[in-house]
Amino acid sequence: MDEIFLLSNRKRLTLKRGKERVVTNRHPWIFAGAIGAEGGPAEAAIGDLFDVNGVRLASGFYSPRSEIRLRALTFGQDELTAELIAQRIDSAIARRRRLLGPNTNAIRMINADGDDLSGLVIDLYNDVVVAEIANAGIERLKPMILDTIRRALNPRLIYLSNDMPARRLEQLATEPEAIGEGTPATTILENGLRFEVDPASGQKTGFFLDQRENRTLAQSLAPGRRMLNLFSYTGAFGVYAAAGGATFVENVDGSDLAINQAKRNHDLNGSSTIARFTVADAFAHVRHQAASGERFGLIVCDPPAFAKRRVEVDRAARGYKDINLYAMRLLERDGFLLTFSCSGHLSLDLFQKIIFAAALDAGRRISFVRRLTAGADHPVSIYCPEGEYLKGFLLEVRE
Ligand code: SAH
Repeated sequence: MDEIFLLSNRKRLTLKRGKERVVTNRHPWIFAGAIGAEGGPAEAAIGDLFDVNGVRLASGFYSPRSEIRLRALTFGQDELTAELIAQRIDSAIARRRRLLGPNTNAIRMINADGDDLSGLVIDLYNDVVVAEIANAGIERLKPMILDTIRRALNPRLIYLSNDMPARRLEQLATEPEAIGEGTPATTILENGLRFEVDPASGQKTGFFLDQRENRTLAQSLAPGRRMLNLFSYTGAFGVYAAAGGATFVENVDGSDLAINQAKRNHDLNGSSTIARFTVADAFAHVRHQAASGERFGLIVCDPPAFAKRRVEVDRAARGYKDINLYAMRLLERDGFLLTFSCSGHLSLDLFQKIIFAAALDAGRRISFVRRLTAGADHPVSIYCPEGEYLKGFLLEVRE
Protein backbone atom coordinates (compact mmCIF):
# COMPACT_ATOMS: atom_id res chain seq x y z
CA MET A 1 0.00 0.00 0.00
CA ASP A 2 1.44 3.37 -0.87
CA GLU A 3 1.06 6.56 1.13
CA ILE A 4 -1.23 8.18 -1.43
CA PHE A 5 -3.68 5.35 -0.87
CA LEU A 6 -3.27 5.52 2.90
CA LEU A 7 -3.77 9.26 2.94
CA SER A 8 -6.80 9.23 0.70
CA ASN A 9 -8.43 6.15 2.20
CA ARG A 10 -9.33 7.76 5.49
CA LYS A 11 -11.29 6.84 8.55
CA ARG A 12 -14.40 8.90 9.22
CA LEU A 13 -15.03 9.47 12.92
CA THR A 14 -17.97 11.27 14.49
CA LEU A 15 -17.60 13.10 17.77
CA LYS A 16 -20.28 12.32 20.35
CA ARG A 17 -22.69 15.13 21.14
CA GLY A 18 -21.54 17.05 24.24
CA LYS A 19 -17.84 16.24 23.73
CA GLU A 20 -17.05 19.43 21.79
CA ARG A 21 -14.66 20.69 24.48
CA VAL A 22 -12.23 17.94 23.42
CA VAL A 23 -11.49 19.83 20.22
CA THR A 24 -11.99 23.43 21.33
CA ASN A 25 -9.02 22.98 23.70
CA ARG A 26 -6.89 21.68 20.80
CA HIS A 27 -5.57 18.79 22.86
CA PRO A 28 -4.12 16.34 20.30
CA TRP A 29 -5.30 13.18 22.08
CA ILE A 30 -8.85 12.28 21.10
CA PHE A 31 -9.94 9.32 23.22
CA ALA A 32 -12.17 6.49 22.02
CA GLY A 33 -14.81 7.45 24.61
CA ALA A 34 -15.46 10.77 22.84
CA ILE A 35 -16.05 9.11 19.49
CA GLY A 36 -19.41 7.75 18.41
CA ALA A 37 -19.63 6.26 14.92
CA GLU A 38 -16.52 5.07 13.05
CA GLY A 39 -16.63 4.52 9.30
CA GLY A 40 -14.01 3.60 6.71
CA PRO A 41 -11.17 1.07 6.64
CA ALA A 42 -9.66 -0.15 9.94
CA GLU A 43 -6.19 0.02 8.40
CA ALA A 44 -6.49 3.73 7.61
CA ALA A 45 -3.46 5.78 8.63
CA ILE A 46 -5.39 9.03 8.91
CA GLY A 47 -8.73 9.78 10.50
CA ASP A 48 -10.99 12.81 10.11
CA LEU A 49 -13.21 13.78 13.01
CA PHE A 50 -16.61 15.36 12.28
CA ASP A 51 -19.35 16.72 14.48
CA VAL A 52 -22.88 15.30 14.24
CA ASN A 53 -23.67 17.86 11.53
CA GLY A 54 -20.81 16.66 9.36
CA VAL A 55 -18.48 19.63 10.01
CA ARG A 56 -14.86 18.58 10.13
CA LEU A 57 -13.25 19.30 13.51
CA ALA A 58 -9.83 17.65 13.38
CA SER A 59 -7.62 15.24 11.43
CA GLY A 60 -4.75 13.07 12.61
CA PHE A 61 -3.06 9.71 12.98
CA TYR A 62 -5.64 6.97 13.53
CA SER A 63 -5.17 3.96 15.83
CA PRO A 64 -7.90 1.32 15.82
CA ARG A 65 -6.67 -0.37 19.02
CA SER A 66 -5.51 2.53 21.15
CA GLU A 67 -7.57 4.36 23.75
CA ILE A 68 -6.13 7.46 22.06
CA ARG A 69 -8.08 6.73 18.89
CA LEU A 70 -6.97 9.85 17.04
CA ARG A 71 -3.85 11.96 17.48
CA ALA A 72 -4.92 15.24 15.99
CA LEU A 73 -2.44 17.11 13.81
CA THR A 74 -4.83 19.68 12.38
CA PHE A 75 -8.03 21.29 13.61
CA GLY A 76 -11.04 22.79 11.84
CA GLN A 77 -10.73 23.30 8.11
CA ASP A 78 -6.94 22.80 7.96
CA GLU A 79 -6.25 20.01 5.49
CA LEU A 80 -4.04 17.11 6.67
CA THR A 81 -1.90 16.03 3.71
CA ALA A 82 1.33 14.10 3.21
CA GLU A 83 3.00 17.41 2.34
CA LEU A 84 1.93 18.92 5.66
CA ILE A 85 3.43 16.00 7.60
CA ALA A 86 6.69 16.28 5.64
CA GLN A 87 6.69 20.04 6.21
CA ARG A 88 6.30 19.59 9.97
CA ILE A 89 9.20 17.14 10.02
CA ASP A 90 11.36 19.54 8.01
CA SER A 91 10.51 22.55 10.16
CA ALA A 92 11.11 20.66 13.44
CA ILE A 93 14.54 19.73 12.11
CA ALA A 94 15.18 23.31 10.96
CA ARG A 95 14.35 24.61 14.47
CA ARG A 96 17.08 22.37 15.88
CA ARG A 97 19.83 23.56 13.56
CA ARG A 98 20.83 26.43 15.87
CA LEU A 99 21.42 23.92 18.71
CA LEU A 100 23.81 21.88 16.60
CA GLY A 101 27.35 22.96 15.85
CA PRO A 102 30.95 21.84 15.79
CA ASN A 103 30.65 20.85 19.49
CA THR A 104 27.26 19.11 19.53
CA ASN A 105 25.97 16.49 17.10
CA ALA A 106 23.32 14.75 19.21
CA ILE A 107 19.89 16.23 19.60
CA ARG A 108 16.19 15.40 19.78
CA MET A 109 14.98 16.39 16.33
CA ILE A 110 11.29 15.65 16.77
CA ASN A 111 9.56 15.63 20.16
CA ALA A 112 6.10 14.23 19.38
CA ASP A 113 3.32 16.62 20.49
CA GLY A 114 5.89 19.35 21.16
CA ASP A 115 6.54 19.48 17.40
CA ASP A 116 2.91 18.90 16.37
CA LEU A 117 3.71 15.31 15.40
CA SER A 118 1.95 13.35 18.12
CA GLY A 119 3.47 9.90 18.65
CA LEU A 120 6.71 10.46 16.70
CA VAL A 121 10.12 10.87 18.35
CA ILE A 122 13.32 11.27 16.34
CA ASP A 123 16.75 11.55 17.95
CA LEU A 124 19.97 12.22 16.09
CA TYR A 125 23.17 10.67 17.45
CA ASN A 126 25.96 11.85 15.21
CA ASP A 127 25.48 9.65 12.11
CA VAL A 128 22.63 7.55 13.50
CA VAL A 129 18.93 8.41 13.69
CA VAL A 130 16.81 6.67 16.30
CA ALA A 131 13.09 6.72 15.60
CA GLU A 132 10.27 5.88 18.00
CA ILE A 133 6.86 5.31 16.51
CA ALA A 134 4.13 4.96 19.10
CA ASN A 135 0.99 4.36 17.08
CA ALA A 136 -0.55 2.53 14.16
CA GLY A 137 -1.27 5.56 11.97
CA ILE A 138 2.35 6.70 11.92
CA GLU A 139 3.56 3.13 11.46
CA ARG A 140 1.58 2.95 8.21
CA LEU A 141 3.21 6.16 6.99
CA LYS A 142 6.67 5.00 8.02
CA PRO A 143 8.22 4.81 4.52
CA MET A 144 7.23 8.39 3.76
CA ILE A 145 8.34 9.64 7.19
CA LEU A 146 11.69 7.87 7.04
CA ASP A 147 12.26 9.17 3.49
CA THR A 148 11.73 12.73 4.69
CA ILE A 149 14.15 12.18 7.56
CA ARG A 150 16.71 10.57 5.29
CA ARG A 151 16.54 13.52 2.91
CA ALA A 152 16.96 16.06 5.73
CA LEU A 153 19.63 14.32 7.81
CA ASN A 154 21.32 11.78 5.52
CA PRO A 155 22.19 9.39 8.39
CA ARG A 156 24.40 6.32 8.06
CA LEU A 157 21.69 4.27 9.78
CA ILE A 158 18.11 4.62 10.99
CA TYR A 159 17.37 2.46 14.04
CA LEU A 160 13.94 1.59 15.42
CA SER A 161 13.99 -0.34 18.68
CA ASN A 162 10.19 -0.81 18.49
CA ASP A 163 10.13 -1.56 22.22
CA MET A 164 7.61 1.00 23.47
CA PRO A 165 4.86 -0.69 25.51
CA ALA A 166 2.24 1.17 23.44
CA ARG A 167 3.32 -0.79 20.36
CA ARG A 168 2.33 -4.09 21.94
CA LEU A 169 -1.12 -2.71 22.77
CA GLU A 170 -1.50 -1.59 19.17
CA GLN A 171 -0.31 -4.98 17.90
CA LEU A 172 2.59 -3.44 16.00
CA ALA A 173 5.89 -5.26 15.38
CA THR A 174 8.19 -5.27 18.42
CA GLU A 175 11.40 -6.54 16.78
CA PRO A 176 14.11 -3.92 16.32
CA GLU A 177 14.80 -2.68 12.80
CA ALA A 178 17.97 -1.14 11.38
CA ILE A 179 17.94 0.51 7.96
CA GLY A 180 21.32 1.50 6.59
CA GLU A 181 24.92 0.53 7.15
CA GLY A 182 26.82 -0.82 10.16
CA THR A 183 25.63 -1.12 13.74
CA PRO A 184 23.61 1.45 15.68
CA ALA A 185 26.49 2.14 18.11
CA THR A 186 28.17 5.50 17.60
CA THR A 187 30.17 8.19 19.39
CA ILE A 188 28.50 11.55 19.90
CA LEU A 189 29.83 14.98 20.71
CA GLU A 190 27.88 17.05 23.23
CA ASN A 191 29.24 20.47 24.17
CA GLY A 192 32.68 19.26 23.14
CA LEU A 193 32.55 16.10 25.29
CA ARG A 194 32.46 12.62 23.79
CA PHE A 195 30.09 9.79 24.69
CA GLU A 196 29.58 6.32 23.27
CA VAL A 197 25.91 5.67 22.62
CA ASP A 198 24.44 2.28 21.78
CA PRO A 199 20.76 2.66 20.94
CA ALA A 200 20.42 -1.15 20.68
CA SER A 201 21.45 -1.93 24.26
CA GLY A 202 20.98 1.39 26.03
CA GLN A 203 18.05 2.86 27.91
CA LYS A 204 15.62 5.29 26.37
CA THR A 205 16.88 5.86 22.81
CA GLY A 206 20.47 5.44 24.04
CA PHE A 207 21.29 8.66 25.87
CA PHE A 208 19.41 11.14 28.06
CA LEU A 209 19.41 14.07 25.66
CA ASP A 210 16.82 15.88 27.78
CA GLN A 211 19.44 16.61 30.46
CA ARG A 212 21.92 18.43 28.20
CA GLU A 213 21.38 21.92 29.65
CA ASN A 214 21.34 20.60 33.22
CA ARG A 215 24.64 18.85 32.58
CA THR A 216 26.11 22.22 31.53
CA LEU A 217 24.81 23.67 34.80
CA ALA A 218 26.46 20.82 36.77
CA GLN A 219 29.70 21.53 34.91
CA SER A 220 29.59 25.21 35.91
CA LEU A 221 29.04 24.34 39.58
CA ALA A 222 31.78 21.70 39.71
CA PRO A 223 35.09 23.57 40.14
CA GLY A 224 36.91 22.37 43.25
CA ARG A 225 34.10 20.12 44.40
CA ARG A 226 33.74 16.39 45.10
CA MET A 227 30.84 15.17 42.99
CA LEU A 228 28.39 12.29 43.52
CA ASN A 229 26.41 11.17 40.46
CA LEU A 230 23.47 9.08 41.69
CA PHE A 231 21.69 6.97 39.03
CA SER A 232 24.57 7.86 36.73
CA TYR A 233 23.61 5.64 33.77
CA THR A 234 26.59 6.07 31.38
CA GLY A 235 28.18 8.79 33.49
CA ALA A 236 27.15 11.86 31.50
CA PHE A 237 26.72 14.24 34.48
CA GLY A 238 29.98 12.88 35.95
CA VAL A 239 31.93 13.53 32.74
CA TYR A 240 30.64 17.12 32.65
CA ALA A 241 31.50 17.68 36.33
CA ALA A 242 35.03 16.38 35.75
CA ALA A 243 35.39 18.64 32.69
CA GLY A 244 34.24 21.55 34.86
CA GLY A 245 36.97 21.01 37.43
CA ALA A 246 35.52 18.61 40.02
CA THR A 247 38.31 17.12 42.14
CA PHE A 248 36.61 13.73 42.36
CA VAL A 249 33.56 12.08 40.77
CA GLU A 250 31.68 8.98 41.89
CA ASN A 251 29.19 7.43 39.45
CA VAL A 252 26.64 5.12 41.07
CA ASP A 253 24.25 2.93 39.08
CA GLY A 254 22.54 -0.42 39.58
CA SER A 255 23.46 -1.60 36.09
CA ASP A 256 26.98 -2.91 35.50
CA LEU A 257 26.50 -2.37 31.77
CA ALA A 258 25.83 1.32 32.41
CA ILE A 259 28.78 1.64 34.78
CA ASN A 260 31.16 -0.04 32.30
CA GLN A 261 30.01 2.47 29.72
CA ALA A 262 30.49 5.30 32.23
CA LYS A 263 34.09 4.16 32.69
CA ARG A 264 34.65 4.21 28.91
CA ASN A 265 33.06 7.67 28.65
CA HIS A 266 35.35 9.05 31.36
CA ASP A 267 38.29 7.42 29.51
CA LEU A 268 37.22 9.10 26.27
CA ASN A 269 37.28 12.48 28.00
CA GLY A 270 40.47 11.91 29.97
CA SER A 271 38.88 11.95 33.42
CA SER A 272 38.81 8.35 34.66
CA THR A 273 41.72 8.92 37.05
CA ILE A 274 39.59 11.17 39.26
CA ALA A 275 36.48 8.98 38.95
CA ARG A 276 35.10 6.06 40.93
CA PHE A 277 32.63 3.61 39.37
CA THR A 278 30.18 1.92 41.70
CA VAL A 279 27.63 -0.72 40.79
CA ALA A 280 25.17 -0.52 43.67
CA ASP A 281 21.62 0.12 44.70
CA ALA A 282 21.62 3.88 45.21
CA PHE A 283 19.29 3.69 48.23
CA ALA A 284 21.64 1.33 50.08
CA HIS A 285 24.75 3.15 48.89
CA VAL A 286 23.77 6.59 50.22
CA ARG A 287 23.01 5.04 53.63
CA HIS A 288 26.42 3.45 53.67
CA GLN A 289 28.10 6.73 52.70
CA ALA A 290 26.15 8.74 55.27
CA ALA A 291 27.26 6.31 57.96
CA SER A 292 30.90 6.34 56.86
CA GLY A 293 31.04 10.16 56.86
CA GLU A 294 31.69 10.63 53.14
CA ARG A 295 30.62 14.12 51.95
CA PHE A 296 30.22 15.86 48.57
CA GLY A 297 30.08 19.46 47.36
CA LEU A 298 27.92 18.61 44.34
CA ILE A 299 25.35 15.83 44.05
CA VAL A 300 23.19 14.94 41.07
CA CYS A 301 20.19 12.70 41.76
CA ASP A 302 18.47 11.63 38.53
CA PRO A 303 16.53 8.42 39.20
CA PRO A 304 14.35 6.54 36.71
CA ALA A 305 10.61 7.31 36.73
CA PHE A 306 9.45 5.77 40.01
CA ALA A 307 5.82 6.37 39.02
CA LYS A 308 5.19 4.88 35.60
CA ARG A 309 1.46 4.76 36.33
CA ARG A 310 -0.82 7.07 38.30
CA VAL A 311 -1.48 4.45 41.01
CA GLU A 312 2.24 4.32 41.77
CA VAL A 313 2.52 7.99 42.78
CA ASP A 314 2.36 7.40 46.56
CA ARG A 315 5.03 4.75 46.54
CA ALA A 316 7.14 6.86 44.17
CA ALA A 317 6.83 9.84 46.53
CA ARG A 318 8.34 7.76 49.35
CA GLY A 319 11.22 6.75 47.08
CA TYR A 320 11.96 10.35 46.04
CA LYS A 321 11.81 11.51 49.65
CA ASP A 322 14.15 8.77 50.84
CA ILE A 323 16.87 9.27 48.25
CA ASN A 324 16.74 13.08 48.55
CA LEU A 325 16.87 12.96 52.34
CA TYR A 326 20.12 11.00 52.18
CA ALA A 327 21.52 13.10 49.35
CA MET A 328 20.96 16.20 51.51
CA ARG A 329 22.74 14.56 54.45
CA LEU A 330 25.72 13.86 52.20
CA LEU A 331 26.15 17.49 51.16
CA GLU A 332 29.03 19.56 52.46
CA ARG A 333 28.40 23.06 53.76
CA ASP A 334 27.50 25.28 50.80
CA GLY A 335 27.02 22.18 48.68
CA PHE A 336 24.72 21.94 45.64
CA LEU A 337 22.14 19.29 44.83
CA LEU A 338 20.56 18.92 41.39
CA THR A 339 17.59 16.69 41.92
CA PHE A 340 15.14 15.40 39.31
CA SER A 341 11.93 13.50 38.77
CA CYS A 342 11.04 12.24 35.31
CA SER A 343 7.71 10.72 36.43
CA GLY A 344 5.06 12.33 34.27
CA HIS A 345 2.39 11.48 36.85
CA LEU A 346 4.16 13.31 39.66
CA SER A 347 3.41 17.04 39.51
CA LEU A 348 5.97 19.78 40.03
CA ASP A 349 3.97 20.87 43.06
CA LEU A 350 4.11 17.41 44.66
CA PHE A 351 7.82 17.07 43.85
CA GLN A 352 8.47 20.38 45.61
CA LYS A 353 6.54 19.16 48.68
CA ILE A 354 8.61 15.97 48.71
CA ILE A 355 11.83 17.98 48.61
CA PHE A 356 10.52 20.19 51.42
CA ALA A 357 9.75 17.09 53.57
CA ALA A 358 13.20 15.63 52.84
CA ALA A 359 14.95 18.89 53.80
CA LEU A 360 12.96 19.08 57.03
CA ASP A 361 13.90 15.52 58.01
CA ALA A 362 17.52 16.03 56.96
CA GLY A 363 17.61 19.04 59.29
CA ARG A 364 19.55 21.12 56.78
CA ARG A 365 19.09 24.77 55.84
CA ILE A 366 18.36 24.39 52.16
CA SER A 367 17.11 26.84 49.56
CA PHE A 368 15.77 26.54 46.05
CA VAL A 369 18.10 28.28 43.63
CA ARG A 370 16.44 27.37 40.36
CA ARG A 371 13.83 25.20 38.72
CA LEU A 372 15.13 22.81 36.09
CA THR A 373 13.49 21.24 33.08
CA ALA A 374 14.32 19.52 29.80
CA GLY A 375 16.38 21.29 27.13
CA ALA A 376 15.16 23.39 24.24
CA ASP A 377 15.11 20.40 21.87
CA HIS A 378 12.27 18.95 24.01
CA PRO A 379 9.54 21.54 23.41
CA VAL A 380 6.15 20.93 25.02
CA SER A 381 2.87 21.74 23.29
CA ILE A 382 0.90 24.23 25.34
CA TYR A 383 -2.18 22.18 24.43
CA CYS A 384 -0.60 18.93 25.64
CA PRO A 385 1.05 19.60 29.03
CA GLU A 386 1.51 15.82 29.51
CA GLY A 387 4.66 16.26 27.43
CA GLU A 388 6.39 17.99 30.34
CA TYR A 389 7.68 15.05 32.37
CA LEU A 390 11.14 16.18 33.52
CA LYS A 391 11.26 18.45 36.54
CA GLY A 392 14.09 19.33 38.83
CA PHE A 393 15.52 21.76 41.33
CA LEU A 394 18.91 23.20 41.99
CA LEU A 395 19.20 23.30 45.78
CA GLU A 396 21.90 24.84 47.92
CA VAL A 397 22.81 24.14 51.52
CA ARG A 398 23.27 27.46 53.30
CA GLU A 399 25.16 26.68 56.46
N1 SAH B 1 21.43 10.69 34.87
C1 SAH B 1 21.51 9.80 33.75
C2 SAH B 1 20.21 9.11 33.46
C3 SAH B 1 19.68 8.26 34.60
S1 SAH B 1 18.55 7.05 34.08
C4 SAH B 1 22.04 10.58 32.53
O1 SAH B 1 22.04 11.82 32.52
O2 SAH B 1 22.47 9.94 31.57
C5 SAH B 1 18.27 6.15 35.52
C6 SAH B 1 19.36 5.16 35.90
O3 SAH B 1 19.06 4.65 37.20
C7 SAH B 1 19.49 3.93 35.01
O4 SAH B 1 20.80 3.87 34.50
C8 SAH B 1 19.24 2.73 35.94
O5 SAH B 1 20.12 1.63 35.70
C9 SAH B 1 19.51 3.31 37.29
N2 SAH B 1 18.83 2.71 38.45
C10 SAH B 1 17.54 2.35 38.55
N3 SAH B 1 17.27 1.95 39.82
C11 SAH B 1 18.42 2.06 40.52
C12 SAH B 1 18.78 1.84 41.88
N4 SAH B 1 17.89 1.41 42.79
N5 SAH B 1 20.05 2.08 42.26
C13 SAH B 1 20.96 2.55 41.37
N6 SAH B 1 20.67 2.79 40.07
C14 SAH B 1 19.42 2.55 39.66
